[in-house]
Amino acid sequence: MKVLVVNAGSSSLKYQVIEMNTETLLCKGGIERIGIEGSNLTQESGGKKYNVEKPLANHTEGFDLLIKCLTDKSVGGVLDDISEIEAVGHRVLHTGTDFDDSVLITPEALKILEKNAFLGPLHMPANIACVKSCMQVLPGVPNVAVFDTAFHTTMPAYAYMYAIPYEDYEQFKIRRYGFHGTSHKFVSQTAKKWLEDNGFASGRIVTCHLGNGSSITAVKDGKCVDTSMGMTPLEGVPMGTRSGDIDASVVEFLCNFKKMTVGEVITYLNKKSGFLGVSGVSSDSRNMLEEAHKGNERARLAADMFTYKVKKYIGSYAAAMGGLDCIVFTGGIGENSDEMREGIVKGLEFLGVELDKAENKKREKPPVREISTKASKVRVLIVPTNEELMIARDTRRIVKGE
Ligand code: AMP
Repeated sequence: MKVLVVNAGSSSLKYQVIEMNTETLLCKGGIERIGIEGSNLTQESGGKKYNVEKPLANHTEGFDLLIKCLTDKSVGGVLDDISEIEAVGHRVLHTGTDFDDSVLITPEALKILEKNAFLGPLHMPANIACVKSCMQVLPGVPNVAVFDTAFHTTMPAYAYMYAIPYEDYEQFKIRRYGFHGTSHKFVSQTAKKWLEDNGFASGRIVTCHLGNGSSITAVKDGKCVDTSMGMTPLEGVPMGTRSGDIDASVVEFLCNFKKMTVGEVITYLNKKSGFLGVSGVSSDSRNMLEEAHKGNERARLAADMFTYKVKKYIGSYAAAMGGLDCIVFTGGIGENSDEMREGIVKGLEFLGVELDKAENKKREKPPVREISTKASKVRVLIVPTNEELMIARDTRRIVKGE
């Protein structure tokens, strides 16, 4: 069974074709600058990269081009006929409070996605436009929505509620939802299987998805019981350009001191804060750490704030789950930065965490790599994430009714 996985942003679209019988990636690509001058598609297959430039006014035109390129051998197309695509899996941002799992996109489900668009004004309209384009261009092929928030729907109310008047939760659905769910699900499932296969306890796992956006999740017996992002991806640890947790009253101070509107403050907290705002150097952790090594104190501070906050989340989730069996690192920082990983676990020895420093420094990336010592009571693992494969697995499961 071949599954097309699509991940649509407001002006971009990434895709992969995966053969699900063997879980083999056949090709991947992306379209950039949809609706903007200079739009183009890049496609990679068989170790080669192809580029197609074409004006694309909207997602439907983008999707049309994508479908043509999948069957055009001169640009790395891997299909003889588009009918080989048996299902399409869409990354969709938000479940709202309507779904707790991936779902087949029927006309009714599409209406619910549209009703929930207000919860993700940057992403949901693009996700929905992409679903509709796909329905037009590939009629009769089932579409499945795989939500970024779905894995977190098992959180208990005491974890997802904000302590605001209850009626406002009921009326406006103001609560914590969490994001990066597909990644947390993939790495926690992969880690759980590895732990069970190797005879370790797997009931209490903390997954740390650390990248440009970062979130930490507590996974008890395979289910999410808490996560660090909230109603939006702004809450939690400091990120590339996001502040993470902040006293809401800061918004009023900023409005008064800097004469900003509330909207401007939210943009400032999302785009100008985090590593970039504190270090004044970059939102990219590599540049920030390089500067910190040269003695830049603000860059050092931003890095220390990050490792400290991630450590606090791990500690609080160990408390929430009554102990800790495993810490999983994933995402651009989690998979690649030995310095950040070491900074995060330093001081967690009291929980039974013991890092193998030599193993932590290695660069290899197998599906699972243990970086804790044999004596460690808590396993520390690097599990490279693969959200597209998780989306394809869910798509097959839903289409086959498994
Ligand atoms: P992501 O959003 O998951 O793509 O992650 C992006 C973040 O990962 C950026 O802050 C990068 O600096 C960081 N990153 C990516 N590769 C490396 C690397 N080899 N070493 C350290 N950090 C890295």
